[in-house]
Amino acid sequence: MAKRKIAVIGVGKIAQDQHLPVIDASEDFELAATVSTRGIGHGSVPVFRTPGELYAAMPDVGLVSICTPPGVRHAYVREALDAGKDVMMEKPPTTTITELDDLIAHAARLDRVLYQTWHSQYNAAVDRAKAILAEQGVKSARIDWRESVRKWHPGQDWVWEPGGFGVCDPGINAFSIFTKVMPFPVFVESARLTFPANKQTPVDVEIGFKSGQAHKPELSCGFNWLEESGEIWTIRFVTGTSDEVKLENGGRKLSVNGAVVIQHGDEEYAAMYDHFADLLDAHQSDVDAAPLRLMSDVFLMGARENGPAFEW
Ligand code: NAP
Repeated sequence: MAKRKIAVIGVGKIAQDQHLPVIDASEDFELAATVSTRGIGHGSVPVFRTPGELYAAMPDVGLVSICTPPGVRHAYVREALDAGKDVMMEKPPTTTITELDDLIAHAARLDRVLYQTWHSQYNAAVDRAKAILAEQGVKSARIDWRESVRKWHPGQDWVWEPGGFGVCDPGINAFSIFTKVMPFPVFVESARLTFPANKQTPVDVEIGFKSGQAHKPELSCGFNWLEESGEIWTIRFVTGTSDEVKLENGGRKLSVNGAVVIQHGDEEYAAMYDHFADLLDAHQSDVDAAPLRLMSDVFLMGARENGPAFEW
């Protein structure tokens, strides 16, 4: 079968680190064009400055993968849907829940496929953890998500602007795992957000959760963006039968009571493109709003603290 033609919109860090190499290696997709405000291309495909120019010049390209920051995503996705495209979009989907709801409704109205990616969900270790927790229940959970903003978002000023999420941009990856594997709903009970004195988004966050469970599980979470010792992307659960279930490396390693059960490399983006191909075959959308909902509750419940100013 001929490969499906796809265009990548926004050729920044994640497009270059993951989307473009994964499309190059894909059996389902073929890169047809890029859209880049800075004019960044890939290989020999055409480069357009705006999505509108792409849609006018190459109407046969039916798919777009939108890799911009979330602040412009709603407008870009709407424009793509209106142009008759099926759309895959980076996380976090949008800056507000109302925008995401609108995109879901708009895609349904136009009968287009809308796929919201959450890359951390695409790990066999995460699926196994979910199965264990479904069987054994959860007595406690602790999320620790710490990384260096200078390493993962070098020079990206948008992360510090309103709607840029701050450390909640990586933190929402933890939430995408947490909301997927937890066997019961969780709610934000308290949140302390520390903002650099000269920035609009938090650099450190501590969250307490509650649930409707009679056994009152202890559930908490910490995000930090100034960790220079390497990534700590860990969720530790104690199950209802007192086993320790630990997800590390952002969901790529699972151990139970200290013994490694699953450990694998980075296959997240390849799995996401495989899933997009399946959704297109079935002409079905897939949008999981739970991580964004929970994160917006963190901001609604957040107590503010001022920290030292941040400079790159
Ligand atoms: P980035 O390096 O800043 O790239 C985003 C690109 O989007 C820009 O380079 C720009 O590309 C385009 N763009 C269009 N309108 C823009 C605007 N108003 N402001 C800034 N850029 C605009 O960011 P990124 O790290 O690739 O992140 C993009 C998305 O991927 C975010 O939602 C992020 O959460 C997600 N993500 C990032 C990582 C990571 O490791 N950094 C990992 C997973 C997911 P052109 O100049 O080509 O138009």
